[in-house]
Amino acid sequence: MAYVIAEPCINVKDKSCLAVCPVNCIYEGPDMLYINPDECVSCDLCVPECPVDAIFNEDDIPEKWKHFTEINKNFFKPKPATEQT
Ligand code: SF4
Ligand code: SF4
Repeated sequence: MAYVIAEPCINVKDKSCLAVCPVNCIYEGPDMLYINPDECVSCDLCVPECPVDAIFNEDDIPEKWKHFTEINKNFFKPKPATEQT
């Protein structure tokens, strides 16, 4: 199961996680960082690095942040032209 970055990262973005990820699957977005679920090897190295505890295993993510699994995944999906405003 891939790892997921949740709400605490928003506007923190200190990128400690980026520095330790062995497969470089963490990417910076406008408000927060996102983990590409297709590239994450679930090594757990990023979790202790995060100063705000924003990173979770997909299986252990708190209920209130479950939707961040989709948010991380969607960041890497090409956006269909019809959905753009
Ligand atoms: S669990 Fe490992 S591979 Fe996945 S994002 Fe964290 S450091 Fe990268
Ligand atoms: S270490 Fe945590 S707060 Fe910092 S960029 Fe990564 S997920 Fe965001």
